Order: sequence, then structure tokens, then C-alpha cells
Amino acid sequence: MARYKNAKCKLCRAYGEKLFLKGARCNTDRCAIAKRPFGPGQHGKRRKKESNYALQLHEKQKAKRIYGVLERQFKKYFQIASKAKGVTGHTLLQILETRLDNVIFRLALAMSRAQARQVVRHNHVYVNNKKVNIPSYLVKEGDTVELKGKEPFVKRVSEMRAEQKDRVIPKWLESDKSTLKGTVKKLPTKDDIDFSIQEQLIVELYSK
Ligand code: SF4
Repeated sequence: MARYKNAKCKLCRAYGEKLFLKGARCNTDRCAIAKRPFGPGQHGKRRKKESNYALQLHEKQKAKRIYGVLERQFKKYFQIASKAKGVTGHTLLQILETRLDNVIFRLALAMSRAQARQVVRHNHVYVNNKKVNIPSYLVKEGDTVELKGKEPFVKRVSEMRAEQKDRVIPKWLESDKSTLKGTVKKLPTKDDIDFSIQEQLIVELYSK
């Protein structure tokens, strides 16, 4: 599966905000954007005036990086969202949020979406008691999501979960603290998304 392989912290610095791509490190003072809050490279400290097109492109790229989705897949999500009822931008965000890898991350069963993707790929995830190893699988309201594996894996995830006990689980999900299990209580709305994303700029970009 193709994926973005370059330095992740550079992306946060280029977009000027934390994208939380590196798990636990993102919440420490080792975070690159906390240490160097300006763009990467020789001219990183210069303020650039962005055109409307650049702003739209910036927002689309940012969303792709956050969710770890490549262009083709992202465009496909946009096409699905534009054909669906409701506000296209909100539907697009809902599709991205309901990806299985994102759900594992949101349930605090992985430190980052990249780690969640690996957990899914390695056959540890069960949706409604059926094994699913496709990170882009979209969960539905009422689905249960559970991690299963041998003792060392379960121990590792439990320890990692204990380390990040302060992580806030979004309201649309319910996490069972005593097991590695969660439930999709309802589909997420724009208000459930805890980072700034101007989805209308993405819609404008693709609508040209
Ligand atoms: Fe971004 Fe900081 Fe995490 Fe690096 S450590 S990915 S700069 S939030």
C-alpha cells in the first residue's frame, strides 16, 4: 500500500500547526513545532502571502496528511460526499472519521493513525466479531470494534492505553476500559472533530 514516507514533523511545520502524526511524542516538548514554530528550510521564517488557490490546496493537503490518505482515495471520498445528501464538506469529514484506522486511533487503542493502520493490517481488528484488515473500511452506527491477539500484543496495547489514559474519546464513540473494545454510538458530525479544518476550502478546490 502506498503511503507518505517523508519526515512527518516537517509537514506540521509547513502547515504551521500540530497534525499529531507521531503518537506520544506529539504531546511532549520534543514536538518539532513546539521547538521550531516556523516553516522548514532556509526560507521557513519568511511569512508567505497565500493565494486563494494555495489556501484551498493547503487545506486539502493537510486533511490528507492527518488521515494518511493519498490523492486518489481522497478524491474518491470527495466524489462519494458530493453525491450524498447533506453538506458535502461535512460528509467528507464524516467519511474520513469513520475509517477503521481512525476509529482505532480515536478509541485510544493506538498512539497514532499510522500505528492504527498497522494494527489493522496485521489482522488484530474485529468489527462485529469479524476480522477486518482494511484500514479504509468505513464503520457504521452500532458497530463494535475490538482488538484481539496473543498475550504479548494484548499486554502491549493495554500498557500503551494506560500511558495515554488522559486521551479524550470523542462523544460519537464509546470505549470499554476493561477490554480492548469500542462501539460506534452514532456517526460523527463536524462538531465532533477536534482540530481546525476548513472543509469548504476543499470543496471549492475540487469543484473548480
Ligand atoms: Fe507534528 Fe509535533 Fe507530532 Fe512532529 S511531534 S508530528 S511536529 S505534532
